[in-house]
Amino acid sequence: MPSVRLLYFSRATRELALSDMQDILATARSNNAEINVCGMLCYDNRYFLQALEGDRAIVSELYLDIADDPRHDDVVLLSLEEIQAPEFNDWGMGYASSSPRFNQLLTELKQDVFEPGALSQQDALNLLVQLSQQQDNI
Ligand code: FAD
Repeated sequence: MPSVRLLYFSRATRELALSDMQDILATARSNNAEINVCGMLCYDNRYFLQALEGDRAIVSELYLDIADDPRHDDVVLLSLEEIQAPEFNDWGMGYASSSPRFNQLLTELKQDVFEPGALSQQDALNLLVQLSQQQDNI
């Protein structure tokens, strides 16, 4: 089965505490390691933007599970593309949230606050790649 990268964004149903993010990441990292999925998640302004990479059928099923999670809604699929090699292979699920670096990248994208719905697929992917190089340690 070909490998794919799926990108989506969503809105948290409430402002999330650090412990909420730790819960999400602990589940994601342990589950993704078992199913051989990697990716990158970012959170700011109550928006999530996430990339999932792995086997097409597995990523597809995982995305449907994640989209059902009551901790977020307004889930919007940005892209699903076949890939030759993963971009986020170094971690089960990388993570970054608001930081001076995040704000600088948003400024370069002409955003005062994080609005993933206004980004192109390519800008969203580039943002995650840049953020993956300076992650939050949680
Ligand atoms: P269970 O843990 O039994 O969950 C049962 C149901 O309860 C599911 O619908 C689950 O979504 C929901 N749920 C679980 N914990 C809570 C809670 N604290 N509050 C409210 N509802 C809860 N999982 C991955 O495996 N990989 C990922 O990369 C990944 N990324 C995520 C990104 C985001 C933004 C969010 C919000 C969640 C993510 N998750 C991820 C978690 C995922 O949505 C499921 O919780 C996880 O797959 C376990 O679901 P389950 O049905 O197997 O088990």
